[in-house]
Amino acid sequence: MISIRNLTKQYESGQEVLKQISLQIDDGDFVALLGVSGSGKSTILRCLTMQEKWTKGQLIYNGEDVTAMNLLQRLKLRTEWAYLHEKPQLNPNKSALKNVLSGRFFETPLWRKIIGKPAMDEHMLAMDLLEKVGMLDKAHERVSKLSHGEQQRVAIAKALVKGAKMIVADEPVSGLEPESAIQVMQDLKHVCQKQQVTVVCSLHQIELAERFATRIWGLSQGKIVVDIPARRLTMREKDLIF
Ligand code: ATP
Ligand code: MG
Repeated sequence: MISIRNLTKQYESGQEVLKQISLQIDDGDFVALLGVSGSGKSTILRCLTMQEKWTKGQLIYNGEDVTAMNLLQRLKLRTEWAYLHEKPQLNPNKSALKNVLSGRFFETPLWRKIIGKPAMDEHMLAMDLLEKVGMLDKAHERVSKLSHGEQQRVAIAKALVKGAKMIVADEPVSGLEPESAIQVMQDLKHVCQKQQVTVVCSLHQIELAERFATRIWGLSQGKIVVDIPARRLTMREKDLIF
């Protein structure tokens, strides 16, 4: 479980981009974060994954304040989160399989020994993950030959190979055709349910949030204006967000 408590973020320009945000993410949640451009979605997601320092407030991971953690604890925590970008971060000249395997940076045998996880057959795991995202038949295809949607699905498998318990995705379906967008959302939903992975993703499409999420957050000018179990949004809620 993750608690975000009174998180405030001010950039050097002085602009307060996040204003006293308090949220909770339960294990197994599929959270959709909605908001207009500039509302602060990416900033929240970067703070959540410690890529961005916040100005005030706390991030509590399973009862522990992350700012009080030592370097090893933080490194270990980093392996539990995976960040999915709008543009899949893959090597276009390598196969889907090699890209997935490259995601296991912290999952090398030595690292696994340090953090006390059992060794595993990495190749089998990578193939298994590619199967889960429906990309097994393209495992040996060069990434440059895959469509944008297929690349995003390989990126999901790459996120999972490091044993991530949470995927944080910043507009993972932006720029995709509706059909590919649904496919990528279905893959995220599938890993959320079958692999017990928590998903937090920012979206622009209300209907995808309503269809796939278990929880919807609405952000407007740096404030959380909607925080509800997912269902069809009312006109009032849509007005508050957009
Ligand atoms: P979009 O839908 O366009 O991706 P967003 O909701 O993700 O928008 P953010 O990127 O989080 O919004 O930006 C929120 C606000 O913070 C914007 O006003 C933006 O200009 C500002 N901002 C973002 N990054 C920085 C930065 N590194 N330095 C200064 N201001 C920033
Ligand atoms: Mg953004």
